[in-house]
Amino acid sequence: MSFKLANRVHKLQPSFTLQMATIAAEMRSNGEKVVNFSVGEPDFNTPTNIINAGKQAMDDGYTKYTAGPGLFEFREAICKKLNKQNGIRYGIDNILVSNGEKQSLSIACQALFEKGDQVIIFRPYWVSFPEFVTLADADPIFVDTVAKKNFEPDFEDLSSKINERVKGIIINSPSNPTGGVWSRDAVKKILNIAKQQNCIVISDECYERLVYEDDFISTEKINRDNDIGAVVLSCFSLSKTYSMTGWRIGYSSGPKEIIKGMSKIQGQMTSCANSIGQIAGIEALLGDQSSVDEMKNAFKERRALIVEGLNKIPNIKCATPGGAFYAFPDFSSYLNKLGNGKTLKDTFDISEYLLKAAKIVTVPGDGFGAPGHIRFSYAVSSDTIVKGMKKLKIAMKNIKIKEI
Ligand code: PLP
Repeated sequence: MSFKLANRVHKLQPSFTLQMATIAAEMRSNGEKVVNFSVGEPDFNTPTNIINAGKQAMDDGYTKYTAGPGLFEFREAICKKLNKQNGIRYGIDNILVSNGEKQSLSIACQALFEKGDQVIIFRPYWVSFPEFVTLADADPIFVDTVAKKNFEPDFEDLSSKINERVKGIIINSPSNPTGGVWSRDAVKKILNIAKQQNCIVISDECYERLVYEDDFISTEKINRDNDIGAVVLSCFSLSKTYSMTGWRIGYSSGPKEIIKGMSKIQGQMTSCANSIGQIAGIEALLGDQSSVDEMKNAFKERRALIVEGLNKIPNIKCATPGGAFYAFPDFSSYLNKLGNGKTLKDTFDISEYLLKAAKIVTVPGDGFGAPGHIRFSYAVSSDTIVKGMKKLKIAMKNIKIKEI
């Protein structure tokens, strides 16, 4: 048997956040007690009213293909949600429903970018952004952020990298992996730059309901309120807000021509999104929202617990993240020290050390373009956080200064 994989497979990086979750699952199945801080999904079940709507959908015969861009009733519900919650008026032709927001973002890049184009991605970035751009044959261009300012863009770095080949800017606030929430001013600046440069802003708003202190404001709302006139494609997910990661429902809103182009690609890739999930999605978006607040309150308590626990460990610094469910502490003081006799050159090494020495699963920041940092998800129980912090403290105490 002889075959050759296409070059696109070789160019693509595997999702290493999924790899970390797989390692944790394997260790567990071998009977090892691991503390898993690598999860990117809420630990709650989908709220009962949404589950019941899904069951009812099957009984009612919603078990077939839907319209390519999404069930009419679901897109109508999305328009209502966008109007009521985000203050953005859109018609049904401005909406595309996909199999999770990951698909929304991926086909957005397919529809908008091609060879020769550059797309700005802020570093630290969600691991999939550069891969979506690469899959579209375009080039990701990384721009720094300022850790001390909630990981907002380093605008000097941005202006040095903007040129006529830049066709898009991807933003993600609240952010995975940092949990940082950008100020309205920072988003406004990005929109103005995009307008000036004639490039599109793709705004990933999957953590829109997980903002703990400030009010969340959609990028397109800021665009409209300030008459900026930038082109914005917004992408949303039901995964995190409603703990529906397995249902695979996400959606995009934006100019009709872009939605139509994306829909054409999606139609040839997956026909449509999961029908049952779309009916359940109507209940999620328009039904009782009390479970969203309950989950958010739980995350807020856990955030306090994990940030306090991390900061109590000598030489670890952790700012309080404004949103999502990730803490992103700085471990750089431990670089080039000895853990289990091995020099810890980067955070891949530190994460590996934590896995072996303390059975704690974390995600190394180097993979997010953030050397020195490690991502801890606090979408785990408070007990798990307390247990994990104890183990982490012991493991860090055992790291030795390197002997020369
Ligand atoms: N965007 C970000 C920043 C994420 O962290 C995730 C999931 O981890 C997604 C998008 C995709 O969400 P989904 O495909 O489950 O809707």
